[in-house]
This record gives sequence, C-alpha cells and structure tokens, in this order.
Amino acid sequence: MSRDGEVTYDDAGQTPVILGEPVTEQPIGAALPVDGMGCHAGADQMMAAARLAGKSEILDQYAADYPKGPHDQPQSMCPAFGSLRVGLRMKRVATVLSGSACCVYGLTFVSHFYGARRSVGYVPFNSETLVTGKLFEDIREAVHVMADPANYDAIVVTNLCVPTASGVPLRLLPREINGVRIVGIDVPGFGIPTHAEAKDVLAGAMLNYARKEIEAGPVQAPVGGKSDRPTVTLLGEMFPADPMMIGAMLAPMGLAAGPVVPTREWRELYAALDCGVVAAIHPFYTAAVREFESAGRPIVGSAPVGLDGTADWLAGIGAAFGISADRIGAAQNAFLPAIKAALAAAPIKGTITLSGYEGSELLVARLLIESGADVPYVGTACPKTRWSAADADWLEAKGVKVKYRASLEDDLAAMDAIRPDLAIGTTPVVQKAKEKAIPALYFTNLISARPLMGPAGAGSLGEVVNAAIAGKERMETMKAFFEGVGHGDTAGVWEGSPNLRPDFRAQHQKKLDKAAKAAKAEEMI
Ligand code: SF4
Repeated sequence: MSRDGEVTYDDAGQTPVILGEPVTEQPIGAALPVDGMGCHAGADQMMAAARLAGKSEILDQYAADYPKGPHDQPQSMCPAFGSLRVGLRMKRVATVLSGSACCVYGLTFVSHFYGARRSVGYVPFNSETLVTGKLFEDIREAVHVMADPANYDAIVVTNLCVPTASGVPLRLLPREINGVRIVGIDVPGFGIPTHAEAKDVLAGAMLNYARKEIEAGPVQAPVGGKSDRPTVTLLGEMFPADPMMIGAMLAPMGLAAGPVVPTREWRELYAALDCGVVAAIHPFYTAAVREFESAGRPIVGSAPVGLDGTADWLAGIGAAFGISADRIGAAQNAFLPAIKAALAAAPIKGTITLSGYEGSELLVARLLIESGADVPYVGTACPKTRWSAADADWLEAKGVKVKYRASLEDDLAAMDAIRPDLAIGTTPVVQKAKEKAIPALYFTNLISARPLMGPAGAGSLGEVVNAAIAGKERMETMKAFFEGVGHGDTAGVWEGSPNLRPDFRAQHQKKLDKAAKAAKAEEMI
C-alpha cells in the first residue's frame, strides 16, 4: 500500500514518467505514417512489405509456430494485446510500443481498461523517420534513457504492424544496457493470428533470453527459495487458485507446482526452466515449449480438469517423472472421489455451444460434459497442437464437433444450427445470441475467471451456467421489448423513419461485383 493509502500491485507506479520533446519542425510530406496499412488493409500487402524489408525469417517462424486457419487475419482484438498484457503484468519490466498511433491508442486503452496501472512507452514515428531508419535510432535512444537498473530488470520493445512491415530491426538493439535486459519482438497482426499466441511470442522470447543467461553462468534464485521437491512448470495463464490446487494434487507423488508461465517477474523464468516437467495447460505456447525442450524438459499436454481429465493428467505427469504406479494411484485416490462428488453436487442440464480464443475451450467443454451438459460444438481460435490432442479425442469420442482455428462465422453457424439453451462465446457471438433470445455468457470474463482444476474446478461452472440457462424467459421478454427498434444500420433511436437508399446500395453492390469479377479474371491470367 502506498503512502496515500492507494492499494497497488507493486511500486511500478512510482517510476518517473519520461517526457517527450515537442516536434518543432515537420518535414514536408512526413505528416502521417503509412496510412491504410493497418489490420483492415490487405494482410498480403503488409506481409510482402515485411519480407522485402528482411523479416522473412521471423515470419517463416511464425507461420510454422502459428499455422493459419480459414481466416488469415485476427477476428478478435489486436494480437499485440496478448504480449503487451504479459509484459505489463510483470514486476520491474517496462513495455515500449513502436507502431501507428491509432494502434497504440487502442492497445493502451484496452490495457488500462483491464487494469494495467502501468505506463506504456511509445516511440512515435512519421513517414520520414520510418523510411530513413531514424525510428530505430529513436527506439535505441528511448531504451537507453529508460534502462535504469534501479527501476527495471528488463525492457520489452514491441514492433506492431507498420514497423514490422518496414523492417525496423529490433534485433540490433543492445542485448543489455546497465544490466537491464532489452527484449525486442515483432508482433504483427498479419503474422500472429490471435492475441493468445502473441503471449507465446513474448513468453518464448523471455525464456530464450533466460535460458542463455543460465547457460552463461549462475543466475538469481527464486524469491521464495528453491523447492525441495521436483517441480512442474505450468504453461498458461490461469485462475490464481488453480496452481495451488494443482500443487495439492501433485503432493502425494512427492512433486510441487512450479511457476506459471508467462511469469510475473524475471527471475521466475529461471525457476520455470529449472523444473522436472512442463505441463502445457494451455496448448498454444509453441515458442515457449521450444525453449523448454531445448532445456531438456519433457512436456505433458491437457490439464487436471474433471474426473477423466484429472486421472489421465496425474498419470501422465507421474509417468514423465518415472513415478511408481502406486504413488500415482495414491494421488488419484486422494482427489478423484472429491471431484466426483463436486460434479454430482452441481449438475448442469441443457445444450451448450462453446467458443473462445483463450486456449482453454476444450478443457471447459470437458468439465461441462462431465457435469451433465450436452455440448455438441466447441470452437477455438487457437490452432491444433499435440498438447490438446487428448482433450480433442475425449470430446470427439463423446460426439462433440471440435473446430480448431474456428472463425466467427463457424461459431455463429453452429449456434444458429443447434439453437442451444446457452451459448458461451466471444463478444460478437454473445451479441448475436442475445438478438435471438438465446442466453449467453462471455467466455473471457465469466468462464475464464473461475477455477477449473481438480475438485475446486469441478463444481465451479454449475452455478453461473445454470443461472444463465434459467434466464431464457427474461431474454424472450427483452427480445419482445426491443422488437422493431431496427437492425444493423437502422438500429437506434430515430426521429422519423431511417433514410434508406436501396438504390445507392444496389449501385455500390454492382461496383463490388464488378471489382470481384475483374479480380477473378486477373487470377485466371
Ligand atoms: S498493430 Fe494491431 S491494431 Fe495495429 S494494424 Fe496491426 S493488428 Fe491492427
């Protein structure tokens, strides 16, 4: 708690704010950054520019790590939010963005909306500083000014779309200034499909840095000291009580829960790498897994959710450590009856469609099914990886349609076809569901913010899900109440009737059809 009584996460709020210099002279023609080159412009154009600017290697790595799906551009918020949030949650880590002002405005707005309570650094640019390389010089100067070891362990610099497409070479930044580590990453929307995977970009880059530090010599011990038992590093952000629950379930096997990656401070990275086994609770951390595998750590997929999930996960972790069947059995016997009882105490009745971009969708679906729900469709914006294969197999054996890299259109089509009692999904899915008087819950705010693991997770969804399903009648009343207030571009309060111009619309459609035909003809040539 600070002197004025404000409750804060750490003392990052005391960090002095660096004031910029006012721009006195504006070079002719340099007023704006490359305009129209955002996430609403063609991704191909940006991709081609980035390759020409020497970013082929990193883009190829991203293409391998994060294979694209039916949509090759993000359908959710800017992916860079994922890596920004990971950096902002770390103690003594500064984050600096390099990108178009509109992107930075949006990203800082969202990060503060989610309670970041930290400054986000920004190095502005214009067309001239971008093309002459001055932007890179400005970034270098900014990190030199900021790199005070009294305030920071590390500074993360992130290239957004335009600087990535222009080839701003963050790899040429000094690796360290005054003992402050400098981590430069490219997180373009045209290379990283979801904000979940952007978390992996930063987590992977930090683990890579920390692994090389370990190889070079002794590093700091964890704040709480080293565990006397072998540890399991947990990969993926989860509800704060979940790591404790997992720790309790590991104890009968003589194991302990290690740090959660992405970590909350730099030295936890060393402890994470020092584990015996890594549990890929969230299955999309491809770059982080690469670092753990380079450090010789085995990876176990899925998670201890529900009855079958917990039994299999404990067996998988035990086998990876070479623990005897007796001790694995002891851990299972200590917790499975409690999970069974918790599931039975909070039964769920109803048909539910589920979709999201967090990476934990398959795990939540398992819990819902074991609680008694009928879940015909699960969509995740994340890609298929081997760490969620067991969950997908389990769900498919129960007749569930599992869709990886699901687009918004997939999720909406499933909801339309199934007409569930409850739709759990992203904002646009929930919005559509409400329009159709289908009860709906936001995955991120209402489902991810609950324990999922072991006995604590087993009964946690029942209350919120059943309450939402029971709200069907209220949804019908709301639909009837708002009936006739307009739809799409005619929604809202109007003095008279909306001024519709179907003739303009038809004319515009003709133009679009013509352009599409021309593009098709060009393709054939
Ligand atoms: S940085 Fe994000 S908001 Fe900006 S153009 Fe790229 S994807 Fe869009």
